Amino acid sequence: MANRETDAPPPSSAQEHVRCNLCCADDYDIYHVQQDRRYDHTPRGAHALVRCRICGLIYLNPRPTPERMLSFYPAIFYDRLDEPREPRRANERRWKRALDLPALREGMALREKMSIVARYHPRPGRLLDVGPGRGGFLAAMKGRGWSVVGVDISADMCEHIRTRHGIECVRSDFAALSLPADSADVVTFWASFEHQRDPGAALDICRRILSPRGIIVILVPNAKSIEERLLRRVDPNPVDVPRHLYHFGEETLRLMLSRKGFEVVSIRHFTLNAYDRLSVIANAQARKISPGSVPGRMSRLLLNAVGFAAGDSVACILGAARRAHSFVVIARASNRDSLLSCPSSKTVS
Ligand SMILES: [Zn+2]
Repeated sequence: MANRETDAPPPSSAQEHVRCNLCCADDYDIYHVQQDRRYDHTPRGAHALVRCRICGLIYLNPRPTPERMLSFYPAIFYDRLDEPREPRRANERRWKRALDLPALREGMALREKMSIVARYHPRPGRLLDVGPGRGGFLAAMKGRGWSVVGVDISADMCEHIRTRHGIECVRSDFAALSLPADSADVVTFWASFEHQRDPGAALDICRRILSPRGIIVILVPNAKSIEERLLRRVDPNPVDVPRHLYHFGEETLRLMLSRKGFEVVSIRHFTLNAYDRLSVIANAQARKISPGSVPGRMSRLLLNAVGFAAGDSVACILGAARRAHSFVVIARASNRDSLLSCPSSKTVS
């Protein structure tokens, strides 16, 4: 349900007004207005998601300028669950490692990403990961014989990936990246496509740099997820403004890919970290039961296990109904040319 238009934030010099990136129109309704509530140290203020009346694309408008946007990405943003933050202690008990369910979940999510790529590009090739986080996926693919490179706007993360994994990471906005044609076999966007300022231009780049049988893999939060519908007013995660500049449903992402000369090979709805939310609830309950005692620890393990199983079950049901938290699209370049080009989609307020 759309908020009243009067709820929309006033434009400021640190914001820019944009046209629809999918159909170039400047005709929209207010879809949802929300503050940035994710991090304590980011600037507050209302941000409006709008929905294009012509094509249905949901996008942030107005949105922070590129310079202003940097203040919404604290260092903690990159502490993603794609690799452990602390190396494991050698003397840690084996049973404790085996029952570290969040670590198991991280491993499952990583293996899922690897199997998605392997399914559609079985032989190792050249991989470009856009927004690689802490580089766990890149490192895992390198271990399987892939030639890998990351691209990220964060100098710190690129440095981390170089020093920790010995992997090249280009510090750049993806849309500003200059790469030769036919220089990648796979381009992945694991929850980074919705952060692109010009996703249409990003697809143009992908089409140019991909090899003839190359694939693009895009995982985005689902604008039609149950979570988004139920929790967006109380939980910053489903929409995560202003970092998520676009809010795709299956239809709008399919349409954008088609207009940019891609054919969709597969779409799957699922939740990579289904356990996370239930784990938070389980841990909060477990802490009430004498946290240091044996019953407290056992309760915590039990609640975590229940949360783990329940999270997967719920994710399976929602995935089948195409209402899970995320969906992943695999696409290849089609024979058609790109049909979409908005010569000037941006106007500064
Ligand atoms: Zn539109």
